[in-house]
Amino acid sequence: MARLINHIELINRQGDITKQSDVDVIVNAANAQLRTGGGVAGAIHRAAGPDLERAAIPLGPIQPGEAVITEAFRLPNKYIIHCLGPVYGKDKPEAKILGNCYREALKLADDYQMTSIAFPAISTGIFGYPVEEAAKVAFSSIMAILPELKSIRKIYFVLFGDNDFRIHEEELKRLIP
Ligand code: ADP
Repeated sequence: MARLINHIELINRQGDITKQSDVDVIVNAANAQLRTGGGVAGAIHRAAGPDLERAAIPLGPIQPGEAVITEAFRLPNKYIIHCLGPVYGKDKPEAKILGNCYREALKLADDYQMTSIAFPAISTGIFGYPVEEAAKVAFSSIMAILPELKSIRKIYFVLFGDNDFRIHEEELKRLIP
């Protein structure tokens, strides 16, 4: 279900982030070196093709909370924003770093005058961030930056599993009843 706030829609979707053909920018939960790997980064690099690594690697290494942008190559989107989330229990304070990922990605997409962006649940896979906690941080960081955005109109969360989707729906409902 979509929720409208500050003229911006927040929408949870269940699915694969590499298949979002109606979205301008997708976000990658990247590693510091901006290489392919497991999880969502592997899926994005496989779908975008080898030119993505060639374009991304020279932009790294990046720090936790940082975001950089590349073309989307074979993906149906305009750009890919690569964010490095915190490793839960290691990169501290993890909530602040995770919040920085969402804020930096949104600022970058807005600077590029994009109107829609899709996020995966950054750090909740291999990096071990509990999904409920991560969803709270994600939505509250997004809400805090909404007033600064000029061109973004739709912010999607693309959740792979039904449990992750349900948790994000509950959290969004709690924030915007
Ligand atoms: P991190 O290293 O930041 O934890 P992961 O890629 O391991 O990143 O996981 C982040 C989240 O992305 C997990 O919830 C995982 O289930 C999800 N995920 C994995 N593949 C995809 C995909 N193709 N589309 C959307 N989400 C995905």
